[in-house]
Amino acid sequence: MIFRQLFDARSSTYTYLLADDDSREAVIIDPVYEQARRDAALVRELDLKLLATLDTHVHADHVTGAWLLRRELGSAISVASSANAQGADRGLSAGELVSFGRHQLEVRATPGHTDGCLSYVLDGGAMVFTGDALLIRGAGRTDFQQGDARTLYRSVHTQIFSLPDDCLVFPAHDYAGRTASTVAEERALNPRLGGKRSEADFVGYMHNLGLPHPKQIDVALPANMRCGAPAEGEAPPADPDWAPLRYSYAGIWELDALWLEEHLGEVTLVDVREPEEFEGPLGHIAGATLIPLGELAARVDELPADKPVVAVCRSGGRSTQATVVLRKAGRERVANLAGGMIHWLDLGLKTT
Ligand code: FE
Repeated sequence: MIFRQLFDARSSTYTYLLADDDSREAVIIDPVYEQARRDAALVRELDLKLLATLDTHVHADHVTGAWLLRRELGSAISVASSANAQGADRGLSAGELVSFGRHQLEVRATPGHTDGCLSYVLDGGAMVFTGDALLIRGAGRTDFQQGDARTLYRSVHTQIFSLPDDCLVFPAHDYAGRTASTVAEERALNPRLGGKRSEADFVGYMHNLGLPHPKQIDVALPANMRCGAPAEGEAPPADPDWAPLRYSYAGIWELDALWLEEHLGEVTLVDVREPEEFEGPLGHIAGATLIPLGELAARVDELPADKPVVAVCRSGGRSTQATVVLRKAGRERVANLAGGMIHWLDLGLKTT
């Protein structure tokens, strides 16, 4: 199986990508709106087919990336049916199975943090994605959004602590850099829910947390009730439209060589190799301006400001860094020529 744990630093949210390595079918658990471009890039680069996004609950601290990912990749938005969110493709309830290739997630109801919280159990208990029900050495808060400490205690004890000892626990958040735990570990050591803590101990603990009102709740709740779709009159984040660019998981906007060949007159092409390479056996693309990468920051002003800039090098590596330098210098319409001169020549395109 392919498994990736992704992180959103602003909300400390974990997003999980799970895929079957044969069929390439994939699902994403708890995607974050601002990271949808990153997540879509990873799905594309790993050559996966994203069947569905699954949210563990209606989040109060970030907006889900479900709607953006459906728009980008065609994935089905799946949320708890009890959440009554608008625009979902599939409402999930306890006992249902979500399949991707040979793998399956079993849906378990784990209310208490919210009343629609779900946990997803992989392949009979290899992993459990607990959302905000069970956190590593912690538990989701129960003081808003239909939260109820008694309900949460029972959910965790009956639905999660009943899983195999070595079942890996992956929560929706961690605020201290912890990434995973196991059921046995949390059952024994979780200071709120584990060991000998009783339901009454837990209720007392949760009623005395004194947590501040979540910063994002007024934005996040209404947006998540629309599965992350923009409100009426709001525009989703726009991609650059001067060329058909592809965003990479490395965080770079990439341009396809065939498009560039047909539109050379519309962009400034900056070749960031050394002069001897520029004149060397690979040649260079007609009209390219030579500025070696080490000099680029100091010479950005030599590039016209009214045209997009495309960076090229031998293999597409140094030019990646060139796009970073150009952006730092205030250029917004910037892209990397994917694969560099090597790919250009592989395609049989002309050089001088
Ligand atoms: Fe939450």
